[in-house]
Amino acid sequence: MRKRHSPETYQKGILSGDRVLLSQAITLVESSLESDQGLASELVQSILPHSGNSIRIGITGVPGVGKSTFIEAFGKMLLDQGKKVAVLAVDPSSQLTRGSILGDKTRMEGLSTDKRAFVRPSPSGKTLGGVSGATRESMLLCEAAGFDVILVETVGVGQSETAVKNMVDFFLLLMLSGAGDELQGIKKGIMEMADALVIHKADGDNFEQSRKAKANYQNALHLFAESGKSWQTQVLLASSISGFGLEKVWDLILEYEAKMKSNGFWMSNRSVQRLNWLEDQIQFLLGQTFQKNPKVKKMLELERPRVQSGELNPGTLAKKLIHLMFSNS
Ligand code: GDP
Repeated sequence: MRKRHSPETYQKGILSGDRVLLSQAITLVESSLESDQGLASELVQSILPHSGNSIRIGITGVPGVGKSTFIEAFGKMLLDQGKKVAVLAVDPSSQLTRGSILGDKTRMEGLSTDKRAFVRPSPSGKTLGGVSGATRESMLLCEAAGFDVILVETVGVGQSETAVKNMVDFFLLLMLSGAGDELQGIKKGIMEMADALVIHKADGDNFEQSRKAKANYQNALHLFAESGKSWQTQVLLASSISGFGLEKVWDLILEYEAKMKSNGFWMSNRSVQRLNWLEDQIQFLLGQTFQKNPKVKKMLELERPRVQSGELNPGTLAKKLIHLMFSNS
């Protein structure tokens, strides 16, 4: 087993901005070892008063839309403005594909090697519940280490957008022009979740088409119901290759921050998110405890064929298993 430090060592290291200790602490919160989980919880609890001071931005879009190129260019622009930027990822599909979305070393090379930035791939081999719990805690650790902008990347194809939307202040959807109105595999629900759409790769021959797409999306968004927080989803153009529009994206995020802080939504949203987080974690831990229980495992193995054949009612077995999990005998 790997050597672990005391909670105080991690805490001191993180608060002084020590990136090695920050990395090791994130490894701890990602760990599924029971011995690590106690230490991780103690650590996260201890840094809690030092967290919460960043702007948390979620970034999503289909593979190939340019998320990592955007994060690299946008992140570097923020570094040049004196910000400290951390990049985290939520990618529950990584176990099925070629590794985590930030795992490829060639992605975000500039940011990864810059001392003012911190890039962390998605924890691999975990379910969405495990990944999003670890990412939320990693976010708090990054904040305590002094990072003032946290970018959370996710692939816009599954349930992970909802998980990310539930942990960030601002949710950005990257899109491409030229795919017409068929939403490029992005579900309408994800568009509704977004605080801004960015028509990406608005450069070269693509520029005119991007301008048209912007107008189309703007019209489509007017059909959506008001979000109830006095914010109309904005559509912007950007190119991460030329740098066009990146400043505007940041200005919009700052405008959103100012508005939502003054109308109270910023803090109330974070409070709601904390309660959602609690719910998620309860569900996740219950599921884990259930699956790990040896008595449950044994009965499941024994009775599964009878459910499969239609002989035993699934609901009856489920109740029996839950009962078994909570029984002490
Ligand atoms: P991801 O899968 O969403 O992370 O997409 P990548 O960042 O890997 O980019 C996919 C491809 O789009 C790469 O070949 C990039 O060079 C290209 N790309 C990214 N951003 C831009 C842009 O602003 N303009 C143009 N023309 N190409 C871009």
